[in-house]
Amino acid sequence: MRLALDEAARAVRGGDVPVGAVVLAPDGATVLAAAHNEREAAGDPTAHAEVLAVRRAAARLGEWRLTGCTLVVTLEPCTMCAGAIQQSRLDRLVYGARDEKAGAVGSLWDLVRDRRLNHRPEVIGGVLADACSRQLTDFFRER
Ligand SMILES: [Zn+2]
Repeated sequence: MRLALDEAARAVRGGDVPVGAVVLAPDGATVLAAAHNEREAAGDPTAHAEVLAVRRAAARLGEWRLTGCTLVVTLEPCTMCAGAIQQSRLDRLVYGARDEKAGAVGSLWDLVRDRRLNHRPEVIGGVLADACSRQLTDFFRER
């Protein structure tokens, strides 16, 4: 999560909301990919940290399935990112701050743990939640 927080800080340079994500290999230690929100920098509505990290990890593995991998992200994923997490077959999702306005992993919806889906990753929320939400609050306060 510390790595994801560092990654999130890089988003601010491009004028983006600080959200950072890291994909860990099945060994739980090797970083396959890291990304930050680039929606403003890239002019791309789908350039959320999670989507970019998942794409980079898949490209590095040469395989769309991220079975056994863990996604660590500073903010609870939105519906799009929850969909990407589900589609990539990640086995574990770790997130920091809850997103009461748009969160799709427990706050407004709980897409990745929907019992109708045949692949449901393990979810661990609230990791370093205070540091993650402080980073976001500081960003919006400065705007
Ligand atoms: Zn998202």
